[in-house]
Amino acid sequence: MTTSMSLTSSSNPSLAERLEEVRSGISAAVREAGRAGEEITTIVVTKFQPASLVRELFSLGVTEVGENRNQEAQAKAAELADLDLGWNFVGQLQSKKAKQARTYVHSVHSLDRESVIQALGSTDGTTIECFVQLNLTEDPGRGGVQEAELERMTELVLSTPGLELLGVMAVAPVGEEPRAAFVRVREASARMLSLAPDARFISTGMSGDYREAILEGATHLRIGSAITGNRPNAG
Ligand SMILES: *Cc1c(COP(=O)(O)O)cnc(C)c1O
Repeated sequence: MTTSMSLTSSSNPSLAERLEEVRSGISAAVREAGRAGEEITTIVVTKFQPASLVRELFSLGVTEVGENRNQEAQAKAAELADLDLGWNFVGQLQSKKAKQARTYVHSVHSLDRESVIQALGSTDGTTIECFVQLNLTEDPGRGGVQEAELERMTELVLSTPGLELLGVMAVAPVGEEPRAAFVRVREASARMLSLAPDARFISTGMSGDYREAILEGATHLRIGSAITGNRPNAG
């Protein structure tokens, strides 16, 4: 490789290069944690990105994608219905959109309200995987339930037909060392497990903190910008 080529590729890496870099970062963290790669599911968060980019990700071997707005997600899932992609909902879901989300997602990572849990439930025999989102901040305006609410939300999901509880989800707060935040998530996961022995999964880890998440037991990573590049019109 010539010097000019390597300069070009490092200053403006392609989607394939960014994906490869994150994949090797994940492998390194998995080795550091003494875990097995099969324990980890990587979801590429494609919010604000066009369907064409999601299609390109699929051609690079990505099979799980995450979105945070129903309208956008539903349109992309419809446009890409020819691909065998798994759709994950990672944002705040309005209860009036829950029934729609159920038609195209297999997993909702952000359950944090009784109204959404009830709206997402169904007796039609189908099942949606879900996580209860923990709010690790003191700010009730953030997504997620306060840690003290975890047991109540767990019971609620367990008693709602059509929902399969996978575990806990959280976003590390700004201003807290991510690893310390993920230790708290791990403790919450243990509390959930005492009520729901199958809910052993942990959805933590984003572009900037997936290594720490893997070291603290994450099973589902939600990685956006490190793979997709900056989001257009990110809001
Ligand atoms: C956007 C988003 C992500 C991905 O964030 P990046 O920092 O771009 O990796 C993960 N989880 C949730 C809930 C998000 O909204």
